[in-house]
Amino acid sequence: MSYSPSFSEKVLDEIKTAPQVSVIVPIYNEVESLEALVDLIAQTLIPTQRPYEVICVDDGSKDGSTALLKTLAQSRKDLSAVILRRNYGQTAAMAAGFHQAQGQFIISLDADLQNDPTDIPQLLAKLEEGYDLVSGWRKYRQDAALTRLLPSKIANWLIGKVTNVRIHDYGCSLKGYRAELLADMNLYGELHRFLPALAFIEGAKITEIPVKHHPRRYGSSKYGLGRTLRVLMDLLTIWFMQKFLTRPMHVFGSLGLTSMGLGVLIGAYLTFVKFAFNQDIGDRPLLILVVVLLLAGVQLFSFGLLGELLIRTYHESQGRPIYRVREVVSSIE
Ligand code: UDP
Ligand code: MG
Repeated sequence: MSYSPSFSEKVLDEIKTAPQVSVIVPIYNEVESLEALVDLIAQTLIPTQRPYEVICVDDGSKDGSTALLKTLAQSRKDLSAVILRRNYGQTAAMAAGFHQAQGQFIISLDADLQNDPTDIPQLLAKLEEGYDLVSGWRKYRQDAALTRLLPSKIANWLIGKVTNVRIHDYGCSLKGYRAELLADMNLYGELHRFLPALAFIEGAKITEIPVKHHPRRYGSSKYGLGRTLRVLMDLLTIWFMQKFLTRPMHVFGSLGLTSMGLGVLIGAYLTFVKFAFNQDIGDRPLLILVVVLLLAGVQLFSFGLLGELLIRTYHESQGRPIYRVREVVSSIE
């Protein structure tokens, strides 16, 4: 009779081999750095004896990254390749990786070797200390001063002001997260860089640590000033959502009631004047104000109700995926 492991033995075995750490890398035309990157991650994580997996998400590359990734994923036991159907952008690519991840700790970093995989153990140490999110801070960032450093300084300041989560470097892709934190995050647009702020809203414990940063060795940056604008728009949306749209009725409803209340008060005053002092009020400008305030009140109130409805449908419709997977290549058991 062949030996069949008991259920608990199987579970134990799984716990032993299931990845504890998932490293997520979004990839758009990074063929030159891929092999070096996966090797560096392995060289860093193997000595820590933590079971890990690397999930490379190919975001519609056109430079041969896709083919190389598939070959690597077939031969390496520590690598899965998630191939998206087209280019969806960095946030969507990262979200695809997060959804695929099995680890308890998740690390994200860029494919271009600007982030240094040797910083990963420090991030893991912070997560183990009990933090839910650890953000990398590129203290000595190696990018162009005027087109990259300045806009990002302004962006970090603004985001900090709006969200009340003051960290130095929102834009650093090298971050660590507890898996539970990411499980129910709905990311879209450029939102991956707001993760610390979104996490804070969810009550997460957040910290940052200085990390290394290198100039881009191969290929070119996928971003220019256009992104700064898109990031700004996302920031405005978050601000608006937080302040107004979480409860439209609280804002528009109270404005409407105040307006109606004023209208009623002024109307009562005019009625009093008419009947108590027998004055003619037909030519009083205040009379028009009464009508305007009452109408505006009703409209604002309805606006609030409509807003509530919209927000609810908006949240319910978030189930829609922001990316589509073409195939997953993996020899991770
Ligand atoms: N990236 C992606 N999809 C895109 C653009 C970028 O997956 O549409 C990846 C890219 O391959 C890299 C990371 O996102 O791994 C950051 O991009 P990049 O290095 O160009 O940004 P920068 O470091 O210049 O801010
Ligand atoms: Mg880069």
